[in-house]
Amino acid sequence: MSKILVTGGCGFIGSHTIVDLLDNGFEVINIDSNIRSNVGALAGIKAITGVEVPHYKVDLCDLSATRQVFEEHPDIDGIVHFAAFKAVGESVLHPLLYYKNNINSLANILECVQEFDVSHFIFSSSCSIYGNTDELPVTESTPMLKAESPYAHTKQIGEQMIESLSTVCPATGFVALRYFNPAGAHPSTLIGEASFAAPTNLVPVITETASGKREKMMVFGDDYNTRDGSCIRDYIYIMDLANAHTKALQYLQDQKNQKNFEVFNLGIGEGATVFEAINAFEKATGLSLNYEVAPRRPGDVEAIYSNYIYASKTLNWTPKGSMEDIMRTAWQWEQNRPEWSFKAG
Ligand code: UDP
Repeated sequence: MSKILVTGGCGFIGSHTIVDLLDNGFEVINIDSNIRSNVGALAGIKAITGVEVPHYKVDLCDLSATRQVFEEHPDIDGIVHFAAFKAVGESVLHPLLYYKNNINSLANILECVQEFDVSHFIFSSSCSIYGNTDELPVTESTPMLKAESPYAHTKQIGEQMIESLSTVCPATGFVALRYFNPAGAHPSTLIGEASFAAPTNLVPVITETASGKREKMMVFGDDYNTRDGSCIRDYIYIMDLANAHTKALQYLQDQKNQKNFEVFNLGIGEGATVFEAINAFEKATGLSLNYEVAPRRPGDVEAIYSNYIYASKTLNWTPKGSMEDIMRTAWQWEQNRPEWSFKAG
């Protein structure tokens, strides 16, 4: 069984990916600072899989604490690196928080990849690296434009750091996965998107509005050049996104990669507007949402959705979840959220 170090495994994408890795026979250990996540996610993972994942409460910005985990586990075969701050709006307000956290932590984990000769490295990247592109759908070769937020810039820089390192670590396979908009929850709803501060992503905002936690939600802009004036995004079901990490690791382990740094888009290849997402929720749940149109949100791009054919063909990966799956599981999660999911720690 090969041992995979997940960083940020108590977070949304990390926790769902751990479940998929365990379901596919990988052994997993986890590093998470729990500054913006809760260790309770591991209890959810145990309830789903029966596996207690070893946990190190370590901030990756602390290089010596990070190195100690590698010293204790010289047999780490691969890393899936999720740990990062991810709120676009917050990054606009606090750019240095994002540069310091996301870049320093990546530099440290990459230093360990090099020092401890780790064979496989998967990086959480983002479609935000494409910027406000006119080329839709975006392929992996669509040029990166100026980042619209410091968050997006940290992902651009992150990919460049990895590419540079890949040239001096020829024995390591590096992959960057460019996520579009993941949402929904594991079908058990024992894990899900656990935001502590008020969530800013559309789907949790929708479910909080439906539950009455917020009186109403805002649609940020109805004057974009899109079919109904609201922004377009490519919403991908979280379990499909999780499975792509497993497939990427298997691809590297089977030495199917042509180069030692490759990038893949992970979306469903279709965009939905904010109004369409609201309608999908109302249809999936029979509830109606109280919303109002507000000004555009700084840092938002107008429209982005993926061409994911490269991931589909190369990784033998197909996203299966629908918008209905996303909305139904997100709503079930909202209604059944465990205590741990409301606070960091
Ligand atoms: N959005 C919105 N109201 C909200 C949250 C998000 O209208 O309360 C819009 C946002 O402007 C964007 C889309 O929903 O067009 C997706 O936003 P999210 O933050 O989920 O993801 P992003 O693509 O910005 O990372």
